[in-house]
Amino acid sequence: MGDHLILEDLKAWLNHTARLLEQNSELLSGLDSLIGDGDHGRNICRGFLEVTKNVSAQDASSANDYFRNVSIILADKIGGSCGALLSLFFDGMANASKDTDQFDLSRLSALFRAGLTEIKAMGGAEIGEKTMVDALEPAIIALEGELELIQALESATLSAFEGAEATKGMVAKHGRAKFLGQKSIGLQDPGATSIALIFQALRDSYKEEKSEPKLKD
Ligand code: ADP
Ligand code: MG
Repeated sequence: MGDHLILEDLKAWLNHTARLLEQNSELLSGLDSLIGDGDHGRNICRGFLEVTKNVSAQDASSANDYFRNVSIILADKIGGSCGALLSLFFDGMANASKDTDQFDLSRLSALFRAGLTEIKAMGGAEIGEKTMVDALEPAIIALEGELELIQALESATLSAFEGAEATKGMVAKHGRAKFLGQKSIGLQDPGATSIALIFQALRDSYKEEKSEPKLKD
């Protein structure tokens, strides 16, 4: 069997995500202050920080249970449109992980795809409309196009950052940024930027885990 993620890798991923978002919190709120109401960094950090501290999430004994907890925490702690959408993302991942705790590349892609489907069903955004979908969908397409897990995580991270960067050229069609219309051109979407950081955290935490020698008892 090829490389795969297990429950502990998923927990390490979101713990890493919380740290990375915290390091970028001011940048994220700065982007949101130009295009929205300036709260994105603070909101998203509050949500992922709670995931790292929440006992029932950290004690979850299956991926399904873990993602279900994460979904509830993010809805509660992030709030706003981003909280609702990210909560749905993890709800989709919970539904797609009911029968396994091991995720090879194709299972991992299916997890993210299920999350994206829920985001699009609720938020109605498609690629090119300056939202988190502009980082998320290209990242998933990149995952789906690779054969090796580590290479897939590299490609997905790169694609997510390219997608976030590409939002600068787009006119916002959703959320608060929509009210700026043409004036949103040139500004980068904060939610897409957060998604890129979430993929970076997955790549980095997995690479760290792979490079650490395992202690045998
Ligand atoms: P709020 O807009 O409630 O202040 P945040 O500032 O935390 O929430 O998050 C804003 C981000 O949410 C945007 O940058 C965008 O990526 C994302 N977003 C908003 N509406 C949608 C939507 N309909 N579909 C996908 N993403 C969206
Ligand atoms: Mg905001």
